[in-house]
Amino acid sequence: MKLIDDYFINSIKFAFEARHLAGEVPVNCLRRLSDALADDEGKLAWEVQGGRDDEGKPYLLVEVSGELHLRCQRCLAALDFALSVRSHLQLVAPGQDWPDESLEDDRSDPIEALEEQPLLALLEDEVLLALPIAPRHEICALPGYAEDSVAASPFAALAQLKKH
Ligand SMILES: [Zn+2]
Repeated sequence: MKLIDDYFINSIKFAFEARHLAGEVPVNCLRRLSDALADDEGKLAWEVQGGRDDEGKPYLLVEVSGELHLRCQRCLAALDFALSVRSHLQLVAPGQDWPDESLEDDRSDPIEALEEQPLLALLEDEVLLALPIAPRHEICALPGYAEDSVAASPFAALAQLKKH
């Protein structure tokens, strides 16, 4: 199944009926990712499974995988990133109490259940959460290569001055 921008699911119904959808989405459809990418080539495989947990609470299991070309924050060149997301999302119906954070299950994240949940946005959210905060090539992450750690040290700034 090709994923189009305006594909919606009724998330609670989807969970209660234990529905399943899978397909591929071109990376260039995930527009909120564009800032993090060196290029938007390729596509990601995705899968959504609805169900109910032991307590009967509805959830969506969202999986997205594939290769992304992130932009290295140091050298700005492409950095291959093997994406593999598997998120268990507990659906919280409108008006229902939001799960207490202290009681929250680490393996499950609560999201608001929508009657018209845009599927693309749901996948995009999970991909964004799975991206490294500051992607860097291994070599670019070495001490001495990292610009901001140099800038953060007053001694490094002095050393710079002495050179001139
Ligand atoms: Zn780099």
